[in-house]
Amino acid sequence: MYFNYNSSIKINVLKSFFRENSDSLFITSSFCFKNTYLSEKFFKFYNFYNIYSRFSNPTLFLLEKKISFLENFKFCLTLTSGMAAIFSIFINFLYTNQQFFSSLNIFGSTVNFFLNLLFKFKITVLFINLINFNSLKNNILKINLIFFESLSNPNLKLFNLKLLSYLCKKYKIIQFIDNTFTPLILNSYLYDIDFISHSCTKFFDGQGRILGGALLTNNRNLFLNIFNFLKFSGFNLSSFDSWLILKSLENLFVRLKNQIFNSFFLVKLFKYNLFISKIFYSGILNYYQYKIFYFQQIFSNSIISFSIKSNTIEMRRLNSWKIINNSFISNTANLGDLSSIFNNCSVTTHSFLSFIEKSILNIDESLIRLSVGLEDIFDIFYNIIFSFNNI
Ligand SMILES: *Cc1c(COP(=O)(O)O)cnc(C)c1O
Repeated sequence: MYFNYNSSIKINVLKSFFRENSDSLFITSSFCFKNTYLSEKFFKFYNFYNIYSRFSNPTLFLLEKKISFLENFKFCLTLTSGMAAIFSIFINFLYTNQQFFSSLNIFGSTVNFFLNLLFKFKITVLFINLINFNSLKNNILKINLIFFESLSNPNLKLFNLKLLSYLCKKYKIIQFIDNTFTPLILNSYLYDIDFISHSCTKFFDGQGRILGGALLTNNRNLFLNIFNFLKFSGFNLSSFDSWLILKSLENLFVRLKNQIFNSFFLVKLFKYNLFISKIFYSGILNYYQYKIFYFQQIFSNSIISFSIKSNTIEMRRLNSWKIINNSFISNTANLGDLSSIFNNCSVTTHSFLSFIEKSILNIDESLIRLSVGLEDIFDIFYNIIFSFNNI
């Protein structure tokens, strides 16, 4: 295990003349040239000097350094949102008439992006079952990129990274993982992964304030490719939002540790609840994917999905709504915050899926995704249990 949270969070490569302890915030759109002779030089070597905040800014630079240390990658770039991070990869590395594989149970906006935007550039997604080795192998020569989420959304499925990395290297395919659900947790450095992305909106900020995204890679050429794209597209994160995330990173580990502890406890308690029909959570011993979990992740995570027992579709939907509406837990599409969040995925983030697709992915009308927060564990548990009284 390689983990250097404290030392990474303490680095401040850019302490200013004033020797500030807390990371400073540079709200400036451009930087002065010392003289015209140097301005020529600065422009030539814009990778090394701050000249304009769309190219670089010290607050962003520090955030990128810290995220790359935390996730054990050499290079990091921050962007306006998680979707901007995903967009940048596809638009830079795929060309017209190329195809790529994606897992189907992913974030809703990502599916929309594939079907409604990439489609216009004639870049086609093939949604395949990444768990079925034969379906992967039979189609592998057709594709240029494989995309999936480290923990699929919302039914928290894991994929075998060792096998997928092996295939990607063998067939020279770009491997791109959305790691939003497992910051600090996924042992991504064990596998030769080309890119991972994060939505900083979720765990990195953790307080429901801002949107942000990050891309990480170990390959200098891939990094420079995206770096140049950002310079001229303007998808960079703002310095103020970077600074907020910098502040949040300082307590990310403590938040995550306690959120995971809470979720572990809740899963144990949920197991004896007669109203709950299915629980999705990989960190428990007899879970069907425990073995993959054990090798790929340092800890389990803090998101639990569960379905409610009922005879009819309508009852299932109604009962899950009653539970959500009668508890103090926020009902919103975000996740990873320090306060707990409920979401019925079937009618919100995954409503674009057909009935058949939903049943293949185990997303029934009552599936509730619970992002476990930092509240007192008994407070959360009793609140949810009392809200069950309404069904
Ligand atoms: C939220 C989310 C995104 C998109 O991030 P934004 O910051 O909202 O653009 C992408 N992938 C996953 C898994 C997410 O949860």
